[in-house]
Amino acid sequence: MTQDCIFCKIVAGEIPAKLVYQDEQVTVFHDIDPRAPVHVLIIPNRHIASLTAVGDEDAAAVGRLLTVAGQVAQLTGVAETGYRVTVNVGRDGGQAVYHLHAHLLGGRRLSWPPG
Ligand code: 5GP
Ligand code: ZN
Repeated sequence: MTQDCIFCKIVAGEIPAKLVYQDEQVTVFHDIDPRAPVHVLIIPNRHIASLTAVGDEDAAAVGRLLTVAGQVAQLTGVAETGYRVTVNVGRDGGQAVYHLHAHLLGGRRLSWPPG
């Protein structure tokens, strides 16, 4: 665990979060500031700062992250109506938390392209 990383603390159960799913590789929880009726975050349990920091050794966890995203879409009821899975990276990408995470947004019509 990386000190002072809020998402590492959520994985460890040190900060409360509304968990949706957790296994040995990934954790899924509701975003604290939801931007859509369904807005969950899917994160690797192991600290990876961003998509840019993903290495070959992370392939299984990152693959698991996307696999679980599709399953959580079913679990949260947006699989049929559709949804978006987004990874914000760096300053211009709007990344605020430097622990890799995918946003899963659904339950309303999402505009394209994002702002
Ligand atoms: P980013 O802008 O880095 O792609 O997204 C970070 C997301 O994490 C934001 O949507 C923000 O609302 C969410 N977030 C930040 N801190 C917390 C927290 O302590 N708990 C939860 N559940 N979500 C958080
Ligand atoms: Zn972390």
